[in-house]
Amino acid sequence: MLMPDDFKAYSKIKVDNHLFNKENMPSHFKFKEYCPLVFRNLRERFGIDDQDFSNSLTRSAPLNSEAQGRSGARFHTSYDKRYVIKTISSEDVAEMHNILKKYHQFIVECHGNTLLPQFLGMYRLTVDGDETYMIVTRNVFSHRLSVYKKYDLKGSTVAREASDKEKQPPPPEDVPPRQKSGNVQQRLQTLRIATRFYCAMKHVRDAKELPTYKDNDFINDGQKIYIDGENKKMFLEKLRKDVELKLMDYSLLVGIHDIERAEQEEVESEDNEGEEEGESDGGVIGTPPDSPSNTLDSTKPLSPGEFDPTIDVYAIKSNDGAPRKEVYFMAVIDILQHYDAKKKAAHAAKTVKHGAGAEISTVNPEQYSKRFYDFITTILS
Ligand code: AMP
Ligand code: AMP
Repeated sequence: MLMPDDFKAYSKIKVDNHLFNKENMPSHFKFKEYCPLVFRNLRERFGIDDQDFSNSLTRSAPLNSEAQGRSGARFHTSYDKRYVIKTISSEDVAEMHNILKKYHQFIVECHGNTLLPQFLGMYRLTVDGDETYMIVTRNVFSHRLSVYKKYDLKGSTVAREASDKEKQPPPPEDVPPRQKSGNVQQRLQTLRIATRFYCAMKHVRDAKELPTYKDNDFINDGQKIYIDGENKKMFLEKLRKDVELKLMDYSLLVGIHDIERAEQEEVESEDNEGEEEGESDGGVIGTPPDSPSNTLDSTKPLSPGEFDPTIDVYAIKSNDGAPRKEVYFMAVIDILQHYDAKKKAAHAAKTVKHGAGAEISTVNPEQYSKRFYDFITTILS
């Protein structure tokens, strides 16, 4: 049973280390967990075991992602890619407190069966007086099936395409020059760190190469989501309830996994890895035993395109009539923007620029949800 005060509560710890692991850790830092009982309750409702959750976040360092949120928020995934950790502003923390009761009530009523973000924990980390706010949500995408194309859809077509900058391939990697000098031990150590780092970053780099396409790109690509009638009905039913919450400016994040393409890439990457191993200095350096890649390997799918629906909760398989065998990942992101003065100003500016009749993404919550829902209905076939 949650009490009203639980929605305002927090717990704080202050860590004072004396010379302990000082190369890697600050000696002093503070940590604040917001509404611990509420988030624990939410995790339970989303079928997430507390011990597993804590392991995912702490057994190995989270992976950095280049995916940029609005206003330059940083974005990480837990090392096992099950959870997304996003840095947020103090205004977002305040907004989260504003909506938490309503959100929790909604999750209770829908039995956790929602496309809205699954908020799982909110924290503040203070180091040297610098505060970083973070929120943890479930990853919309799979922790093991790769996504080759992703879209962020709002149902508005004005100024809704990926910029040229977004679409640009990333610059070529900086390959560190081979170290010629230094003793053997030193080289081994460097190589070990590099290997560990490489393993951790491999999957993130894949993600980084992926631009986020938008509504107009989706339309111009002639993209379709081929799901069967039953899945479509369940999906739209959930979405219809979700958008009744009168939130604003959210998007539907869509990721597409192509089963054959992924199989092909798997074969190619295995070939490459074989070659790289052949070139290494005698193959002394293996993957460190506690590196993330080992854990990922142990959860490899048994057959292509297969997923565990209790973990990849947003996954939907393509229907039998689809031109390609695909798995879609679709859920709502970015609900922490309320219809405030800032939005009203943006609305006015866009109306001037595009004319009153133009479809714009800044409207009121009812208009927003209707336009969003109608658009999403049209993309499912
Ligand atoms: P703080 O934890 O003091 O760094 O707060 C970050 C932001 O969240 C501030 O804008 C606070 O106003 C807001 N906030 C923190 N705790 C609460 C709470 N219990 N209720 C409402 N807003 C809060
Ligand atoms: P946002 O800061 O929410 O606008 O997110 C920026 C980008 O991060 C999005 O376009 C997505 O590519 C990615 N992203 C955000 N939230 C999630 C999530 N829960 N799961 C997977 N990717 C996400």
